[in-house]
Amino acid sequence: MKLKPMPIINPTPALPPALPSCCAPPSSSSLRRCFLSGFFSSFSSSPFSSPCSSCSSFEKLPRPCPWFYSFPRMEHFWTRGSVDKNKALVEQLKQYGVIRSKNVAEVMETIDRGLFVPDGSPAYTDSPMPIGYNATISAPHMHATCLELLEEHLQPGMHALDVGSGTGYLTACFAMMVGPQGRAVGVEHIPELVASSTENVKRSAASSLLNEGSLSLLVADGRQGWPERAPYDAIHVGAAAPEIPQPLLDQLKPGGRMVIPVGNYFQDLQVVDKKLDGSISIQSETSVRYVPLTSRASQLQGF
Ligand code: SAH
Repeated sequence: MKLKPMPIINPTPALPPALPSCCAPPSSSSLRRCFLSGFFSSFSSSPFSSPCSSCSSFEKLPRPCPWFYSFPRMEHFWTRGSVDKNKALVEQLKQYGVIRSKNVAEVMETIDRGLFVPDGSPAYTDSPMPIGYNATISAPHMHATCLELLEEHLQPGMHALDVGSGTGYLTACFAMMVGPQGRAVGVEHIPELVASSTENVKRSAASSLLNEGSLSLLVADGRQGWPERAPYDAIHVGAAAPEIPQPLLDQLKPGGRMVIPVGNYFQDLQVVDKKLDGSISIQSETSVRYVPLTSRASQLQGF
């Protein structure tokens, strides 16, 4: 099938002062970057008025580089049922190099994103979606990125903590990866989101893990982690912390890894490794824009 280039719909008017780095000739890595920045930026022409981000930004981000527009939009592939659409989304993320491992591809195919977005949202578009309470479900490429970064720490039998579990999508992926002998704990401070995420998981392929108790979704302040199931091989934080909360560092197992957005306005997705001797190393993976990891009251007041 030959696909037509995507027309420019309502582009952001002002060009950034310098061309973004993704405007270099498209090597495979720059294509990947371009894909990401394009979709980050695609929110500026999104039908959604509220948050955008990689993730969950509230800003218009710079206009995507021209290469972005020469790619077909994912929606052009959608003609069949939701399972096929989810599969096609995963296929696209694989093609662009965002998904590299078999495990991540499998889990994202198994956990249908369509079951986790609010009714009427375009589930298989690579952008974040509002889920109410000033929160968002992260974009598929961010879910994939975090799963890839954590993959080695999500092996069968391992323990995983998902702070700011929102829709429960990533907690469900974690639970599938660590399996019935492992533990996946989602902590979310908005009780209504915990209730709706529980319903989402019940409809998904992770339902039996919820019933058996290896997957739990809990109402709590995620800045304190969840000590009952600690230490964790993998910790994912789905909201940006001004600095890495000490309880989360304490609950990370030696040899374990945490992925956490850190910062206020400017944020970095940080990869925190706890070595076997207990020392910590931190690397910045990419710039991101997530909703803040904050108190429930601040979030409900709009931060
Ligand atoms: N990763 C999730 C949600 C991301 S949005 C998904 O993709 O569905 C970030 C989430 O963090 C929101 O649901 C928000 O309510 C939650 N959150 C923010 N601060 C928190 C805190 N202190 N404790 C627990 N959850 C928090």
